[in-house]
Amino acid sequence: MPAALPPSALVRVPPVSRELTSSWLRRLAAQYGLPPQDLLRGVINGPHPVHVTGSPKPGLELFLNSPAREAFSRFTRIPPSRLANLLPSHTHPHDRLDDDSDVRAVWSAPCHRWVTACPPCTSRAWTVEQPVLVYPGPCGHICQRHQRWLLADSERASSICLGTMPDILSSHRQHLALVRAHPHTGRVVALAAAVVWSWQTQGWKGDTVWQHRTHRLAQLTSCRVSAVAAHPLVPYPETITLTRLLIDRGFQQRLRAAATTAGPPTASTMLLQELGRRTGRPWLADWLTAHTRLSRPQPPDGGSDLLRRWLTLLANTPGETIGEELWRMPGSAMRPQHYGDRSGVLAEGRSHSVTKEARAASLTGGWEPSPPQGDRAPTPCP
Ligand SMILES: [Zn+2]
Repeated sequence: MPAALPPSALVRVPPVSRELTSSWLRRLAAQYGLPPQDLLRGVINGPHPVHVTGSPKPGLELFLNSPAREAFSRFTRIPPSRLANLLPSHTHPHDRLDDDSDVRAVWSAPCHRWVTACPPCTSRAWTVEQPVLVYPGPCGHICQRHQRWLLADSERASSICLGTMPDILSSHRQHLALVRAHPHTGRVVALAAAVVWSWQTQGWKGDTVWQHRTHRLAQLTSCRVSAVAAHPLVPYPETITLTRLLIDRGFQQRLRAAATTAGPPTASTMLLQELGRRTGRPWLADWLTAHTRLSRPQPPDGGSDLLRRWLTLLANTPGETIGEELWRMPGSAMRPQHYGDRSGVLAEGRSHSVTKEARAASLTGGWEPSPPQGDRAPTPCP
């Protein structure tokens, strides 16, 4: 216990589930009326040497080694096991903190994307000055109860109201069910997102459903249409619908039979026809087949056509051995991770201005349909 903080001054500020440790420290420091770095040094100060690397800049995470985590447990009187359950960075410490001989803390970029927690759901923890920042995991980016798509803003709670976008909410319920039922859902969503992105860049961006959704999002965020077109919300329903098709074992068997007997192009047409039926776009299979044939003929293994490539892999994989290898895709096939890169493609070169506007609306951070990152994969939503 630091000398400046007598036991009588102890305040109760428990972490929110999946909160960034830096967010928790800021909320704790605000209650004591101290700068975050001062409270950090006060808590971990003791007989052993103390090393603090970096400073608490917005958007950074605070990583602690074992002695530092134990110091916070003693200071807040919250058992280490409870802190580990609530704070993901406590179970996945930073690579630079494997030395426990001294007390160490590092301010560094988070290993995973984060969002501002839903204010009504965290009302007791949230203040106007200090929002609660959490790791959303594979599908914690939407609050179903309060119908919000949560954004990433380290200074204020930021979200998109989904009350007038029921298709996003229903897709999220399907996404939740997939995460609970299938261990590889994150990889399949990433593959589906890359496939849908390839369609966005091929001219399907003129689709009326996407146009309507993009204009609605522009109204809700008070941004120009070009600034919101690259947001993951726009193709989210189609991405989840395609994910459900790709992950369905019965449909996989039908596709494998078609790919084996008639070839991947026939299986691809079958898949696109079913996707077009489920998304209300009966023209989809014919349009994409013609577009692909005209624009860039593909080699037998599918080449850069992700669906053809996946179908070829499926046809060569016995059904009983299907695992995560089915969902691996070349890094070049993934859609651009950076909002500016995606905006530049969809806005045809005007990426700087649209990204600047999207950043001001906190649209450039938050959840993305990315594949899990090895052993550091976020745990599924509770
Ligand atoms: Zn909520």
